[in-house]
Amino acid sequence: MWDFDVLVLGSGPGGQKAAIAAAKLGRRVAVVEKKHMLGGVCINTGTIPSKTLREAVLYLTGLNQRELYGASYRVKEEITVADLGMRTQHVIGREIQVIRSQLGRNHVTVLQGTGRFLDAHTIGVTGDEERKVTAERIVIATGTSPARPSSVEFDDKMIIDSDAILHLDRVPETLVVVGAGVIGIEYASMFAALGTKVTVVERRERMLEFCDLEIVEALKYHLRDLAVTFRFGESVAAVERRPRGALTVLESGKKIPADCVMYSAGRQGKTAELCLAAAGLAADDRGRIEVDENYATPVPHIYAVGDVIGFPALAATSMEQGRLAAQHACGEPVAEMQELSPIGIYTIPEISFVGKSEDELTRDKIPFEVGISRYRELARGQIIGDSYGMLKLLVSSEDRRLLGVHVFGTGATELVHIGQTVMGCGGTVDYLVNAVFNYPTLAESYKVAALDAMNKMRVIARLTAEL
Ligand SMILES: Cc1cc2nc3c(=O)[nH]c(=O)nc-3n(C[C@H](O)[C@H](O)[C@H](O)COP(=O)(O)OP(=O)(O)OC[C@H]3O[C@@H](n4cnc5c(N)ncnc54)[C@H](O)[C@@H]3O)c2cc1C
Repeated sequence: MWDFDVLVLGSGPGGQKAAIAAAKLGRRVAVVEKKHMLGGVCINTGTIPSKTLREAVLYLTGLNQRELYGASYRVKEEITVADLGMRTQHVIGREIQVIRSQLGRNHVTVLQGTGRFLDAHTIGVTGDEERKVTAERIVIATGTSPARPSSVEFDDKMIIDSDAILHLDRVPETLVVVGAGVIGIEYASMFAALGTKVTVVERRERMLEFCDLEIVEALKYHLRDLAVTFRFGESVAAVERRPRGALTVLESGKKIPADCVMYSAGRQGKTAELCLAAAGLAADDRGRIEVDENYATPVPHIYAVGDVIGFPALAATSMEQGRLAAQHACGEPVAEMQELSPIGIYTIPEISFVGKSEDELTRDKIPFEVGISRYRELARGQIIGDSYGMLKLLVSSEDRRLLGVHVFGTGATELVHIGQTVMGCGGTVDYLVNAVFNYPTLAESYKVAALDAMNKMRVIARLTAEL
């Protein structure tokens, strides 16, 4: 009766995993994706290019080696956008091949073009040719695009968003980043590492509020050391385009000249082209679609996953949502998404955490002890020349369970998973105290931090016993 059992709109992490999961369950599956966008924002303009760019910056600037070889150490004196773009394009190309091959192996049909609802079971695909396809179940995984305030005249050269920053024709000497969210601050740190003088303008009084305050302070210290200027509690009144650069005028009257201004002002769900009303659906003013706990929209055979449904808008969560939605759509038993998801922020240095922050635990009146390990006290920290990294464990003073793990420095986004696993299995700090880790490793920081927390708890226990 239908052309396909499951049709997925968008081939980003959410769409891909939905399509593969449905195909593995023996369904006839199609993915609709725009030309040159296979793999979604994740592969083409978001996660993969930005993380590859970061790796290229770290390698070419030699930044991570300077503690060992001196402040003037660099692999290449004049780093050009071609040097950076070469690595980015290489990885994007490879990743697209991996996805194409994975979809092919699983007999998922890729329909190239822009999809829109004609009715609740019919999608019109506009591409090189126009076609109509029907499907029993539909998964919307169309993601987001950078929000562009209407008051700002974007020209994709001097006044840009986070998509256009990947296509600059030279590394700017000066850059204003408007918005200190994750994307803004990641790019600010990459360009600062390249030697660009960066000014970050943020309306709020602090940045990355969901992160551990001590770690955000450490990041700010490092970025200031790379000549980043922060303007917190400031809003942009206007950005003026001048022949030799842009002038960012703040509401406080300050003027900041720069070669380039990057707006990182949040993202908008990509739903405008979908003609949602034809399927009986609607999006909110930020283009997001409402879903229930199974990722089903108010029209039960239509699901939505990934960034288009809003928070947390991360690649890993999008993938899992896609898989779970497909299972539900195919009538399979569905496990709930695990609550314990890590957050990784690829600034220079990087940040990662899982579980609660000190602020959250204090607000909820949950007593905890802190155990800290500093990389400079680990042999591996000395070997790699990372003297600033740290790992912080938040341990329940009542039952010694791990409540949160916060990591700053080399390998933070990998290391966090040890803590996530211990927490996920209901482990206590005792496990980490007694575990033997490879030496010399950064993983050892778990044992050192656990011993630190345990020693502090022992002092409290001793004093309490004396009473
Ligand atoms: C600069 C940047 C850095 C990031 N870094 C990280 C990171 O380090 N870690 C992390 O976890 N996440 C990161 N993210 C977020 C991550 O990229 C997203 O969470 C993820 O890509 C969302 O996946 P998705 O499945 O919602 O689809 P997306 O990847 O957003 O892709 C959606 C796809 O749908 C297609 N589409 C849209 N409308 C239609 C239509 N009408 N018809 C057909 N196709 C359509 C689009 O062309 C697009 O290819 C970053 C994002 C950005 C922008």
